[in-house]
Amino acid sequence: MRLVLLGPPGAGKGTQAAQLAHRFGIPQISTGDILREHVQENTMLGVKARTFMDRGEYVPDDVVVEMVMERMQEPDAEKGFILDGFPRTVPQAEALEVALAEAGRPLSAVLKFSIADDMAVRRLTARWTCPNCKRTYNLEFKPPAQEGICDECGYVLERRADDDELTVRRRIEVYREQTASLERFYRDRGYLREVDAQAREADVTDRTMAILADIKD
Ligand code: AMP
Repeated sequence: MRLVLLGPPGAGKGTQAAQLAHRFGIPQISTGDILREHVQENTMLGVKARTFMDRGEYVPDDVVVEMVMERMQEPDAEKGFILDGFPRTVPQAEALEVALAEAGRPLSAVLKFSIADDMAVRRLTARWTCPNCKRTYNLEFKPPAQEGICDECGYVLERRADDDELTVRRRIEVYREQTASLERFYRDRGYLREVDAQAREADVTDRTMAILADIKD
């Protein structure tokens, strides 16, 4: 499977990408996670990216495209991949299209997760993330068994720097300005499948798997 997950911040792309990656045995390639690792390690790329990320704005296309192209060359991506958070602009989508066409490996599908803005804000402002295994929790809908501790690996949970309400609202706005047009891009090419993401995590996974059952690998 070669999948792209689209949808505004808070739609659950990361959570669903992790589920699908597990079920299909293919890597989840999250540009947000890769960028946050660079920020944490203070690399040149991380220092540059941080100024954009802290404001809820997009990191420049050339930086992100190069990063993804390199990641897709790694052996684990040979069987397929789930792109989570990429592409986010038309130039990124075009770069991906060219690279996949050259490799003779077109996308299988693009899944668009939809959710109302207020629900997205509620989800993200109460989100806590494990810095180690990347599992996410939500104080309101999905709290960890022990407060502040990851159920999976015991690490102390953190809040993402860009999950405060003001930045979340800006991220939703930026999605609308720059990424919503990708729906049309992929609909025109026959790839787009829509998933109502305003439900429990397990229900959204079931809906997604039902859609993918009809997709040729
Ligand atoms: P995410 O973890 O997907 O919510 O991404 C967090 C932040 O990383 C975004 O708000 C952007 O600043 C940056 N980012 C992630 N993916 C991209 C992308 N494909 N293009 C530009 N910026 C990105």
